[in-house]
Amino acid sequence: MNKQIFLDMDGVIVDLHHAVAERLGLADMTAFNRGELAMSDHEIWSGTDAEWWASLPWMNDGQAILKVCENAVGAENVIICSKPANWPGSAEGKLQWIASLMPTYARRFVLTPNKAWCANGRTLLIDDNADNILGFAQAGGAALLCPRPWNVLKDREPVWHLKSRIQEMIES
Ligand SMILES: [Mg+2]
Repeated sequence: MNKQIFLDMDGVIVDLHHAVAERLGLADMTAFNRGELAMSDHEIWSGTDAEWWASLPWMNDGQAILKVCENAVGAENVIICSKPANWPGSAEGKLQWIASLMPTYARRFVLTPNKAWCANGRTLLIDDNADNILGFAQAGGAALLCPRPWNVLKDREPVWHLKSRIQEMIES
């Protein structure tokens, strides 16, 4: 077993969608969470800054999901993998979030516009976006969709599902 887990932030461990819903006045965040919202970056992110990104809360089960990953491959093999918004302050705020809320990861992260660039025979991506999962798998990595209300695994319990699937994958 020689796996590294690349763990998504927004929608997996960081609760971005409630803050965005509040900003935009959207009741249904499905399109946003799928990356299908018909709005420009300016319309979505105008007015946000590093402090806004750094102050987002954990997902309710975010710390439990992190623990599942750490238990499966060892904390030293878990890497935070996040795509910053195409807007000033997003990358900086994400790094501040990691440094203050999960300081042992302050030097163990990848910020990238394309997670598939991290795909190889040793890496396992955990992400809530089906397109990211597909792209990572097509690029030669392993990938697991984190069950969320906006994706096809919406009826699964996220922590239980990830725990059992990660175990299957690292043993295979
Ligand atoms: Mg995500």
